[in-house]
Amino acid sequence: MAGKLTGKVALITGASAGIGQACARALAAEGAQLILTARRAERLEALADELAAHAPRPIIVVGDARDEATAQQAVQAALDGPGRLDILLNNAGTGNYKNLVDTSAEDYDDMMDTNMRSTFLFTRHAVPVLIKQGSGTILLLSSMAGIYGFAGEAVYCATKFAQVGFAQALDKELRPHGIKVGAICPGGVKTEFALGRGRTEASVAESDMLEPEDVAGAVLLACTQSPGSRIIEIQMRTMAEGLT
Ligand code: NAP
Repeated sequence: MAGKLTGKVALITGASAGIGQACARALAAEGAQLILTARRAERLEALADELAAHAPRPIIVVGDARDEATAQQAVQAALDGPGRLDILLNNAGTGNYKNLVDTSAEDYDDMMDTNMRSTFLFTRHAVPVLIKQGSGTILLLSSMAGIYGFAGEAVYCATKFAQVGFAQALDKELRPHGIKVGAICPGGVKTEFALGRGRTEASVAESDMLEPEDVAGAVLLACTQSPGSRIIEIQMRTMAEGLT
């Protein structure tokens, strides 16, 4: 039976773990042909083996999302394989929670490059393909830290605010070309994100944070909108959040 994304091609960055992996499962379950990228090849291979049961076997591009060559190779893999690209999910990201006075210039570069430079690079190389097609959906995995500032997360918040601004500007720039651009902004999610860099396995396990599958549901919603509708931003919070 055809899924909602049968015949569509989706490129997911940061697909080797957490939210990216959950999104890969959700989009494959709807029949999408996936291009998966991250640095850990074995994880991507294992995921591709698993997903091949539901949909066309995902194409894997191993590389660092901060490198322009990785973005170029991933977009080219879509063109060389299925010959089109319908969805780009800019999900690769990193966090390192520190007070400002403990944050080095290297910490800043690592977070800004992994979160925002990668978003720029993949979007930069995908957009000419989408413009030529006259259609496409670009989603950015930002955060509630891209909507509100949080103590001890100044640089991380700056990277996530940057993604929201980038998405808002591109929504206006690319809509005339039939391209939808949206930001997905979850609160905390139970993944390996920031482990040893502000979170511990125990603190994540004991928390009431969202599950990666919750976020994948929102991503699926945003990339299965009817042709005349677009999702600009989704803010998500756990139901366990306090009332004050
Ligand atoms: P995660 O479990 O740590 O996964 C991060 C993914 O990004 C991995 O697949 C990792 O792959 C990839 N990645 C990191 N640095 C990379 C690099 N330099 N080059 C290529 N890939 C890289 O984190 P997550 O929770 O799923 O986070 C995904 C996104 O959601 C991030 O943008 C994050 O900011 C955002 N977010 C997370 C939360 C949360 O609480 N978890 C909340 C809101 C928003 P490799 O290590 O294999 O390269």
